Amino acid sequence: MNAIAEALENLPLIDHHCHGLMRSELNRPDFELLATESDWPEPAGQTIFDSPFGISVRAEVPPLLGLDRHSDADTYWQARAALGQDELGRLLMPKTGIDTLIIDSGFRSTNILDLDEMGAVSGARTFEIIRLESVAESIITQTDAAGFRNRFSDELGRRAEGAVGFKSIIAYRYGLDFNPDKPTDAEVDVAAGEWLSEISASGRARLSNPVLLRYILWAAVDFKKPIQFHVGYGDSDINLHRCDPTQMTEFIRRTVDTGVQITLLHCYPFIREAGFLAQVYPHVWLDTGAILNYTGASAVRLVRDSLELAPMSKVLFSSDAFGLPELFYCGALVWRRCTAQVLQDWLDADYIGQRDALRYAEMMGRTNALRCYNLDE
Ligand SMILES: [Zn+2]
Repeated sequence: MNAIAEALENLPLIDHHCHGLMRSELNRPDFELLATESDWPEPAGQTIFDSPFGISVRAEVPPLLGLDRHSDADTYWQARAALGQDELGRLLMPKTGIDTLIIDSGFRSTNILDLDEMGAVSGARTFEIIRLESVAESIITQTDAAGFRNRFSDELGRRAEGAVGFKSIIAYRYGLDFNPDKPTDAEVDVAAGEWLSEISASGRARLSNPVLLRYILWAAVDFKKPIQFHVGYGDSDINLHRCDPTQMTEFIRRTVDTGVQITLLHCYPFIREAGFLAQVYPHVWLDTGAILNYTGASAVRLVRDSLELAPMSKVLFSSDAFGLPELFYCGALVWRRCTAQVLQDWLDADYIGQRDALRYAEMMGRTNALRCYNLDE
């Protein structure tokens, strides 16, 4: 193994965007759904084990279960089921080499491990990211339209105290082509009334009102903590063409001097656009997140794209894993492997020296996240 690959293999990573592991035992249909962003099971006769991520899982995890690399799907599934979700978490999580997990606690939070449990299963220290839309959804039925602003800002203040940053899913709920203006109090009160009527009609508190989505975003800016944005690739809720991060350029421009950091998550297929924003705006960062898992053997090309324009000081590692320990394990492994490959190519071509290659590996896997989230070693 060359020096770059070895340094990356031994580097303790900070996973700056991930979720908890599923708490309950999984059957195979549960597993197959968690291994994709799709909301539908694979059509009859097909399996997620034939997707790029499924292929990676069957290559990388079986040796840890006493099987050969590249197990067939049924053999892998039987060994996994025999071990169980809990045990597999305890086996794989410490082997990811991730020593810090920055966890988005706001998505399907009832059936996943909480921060303390994630720390216990992985041996990593954990920090919380507050999902803005979930905070609004948690308080809307405890207030009337006129009380929404106060109730929301009290709750956000309370939740933000122990958190290192926020997450916005405005890409899912509206699109990144949102109006960059901060809404007025009167506009927010009217919109809160509209949302309350919608809730009494549907019985469901799902925030998609564009005025309120902008209001909660601007409320988060005041805390001067990093705000993560879901960008590009995601589940069937998104309209991908409206998730290009350059569509929120005006919002980015207006927040340059606010003290807030903006981290662009996954970014696929808008990785070059994200790289452009990270180069031009001092408070913008990017990762390739979940997409490395979901592109498997092709992931190296995306890592190369992510390092095409953005300064090395603005690129972060995340697994964006949700539910499955395999997503953490393969996410860390594929990121280390692809990053080593790109840096080694540059080194071989003498574009960079070895000292810089080693420094960049450590920055992207670890020290950039310490700076972005203002964390101690
Ligand atoms: Zn995520």
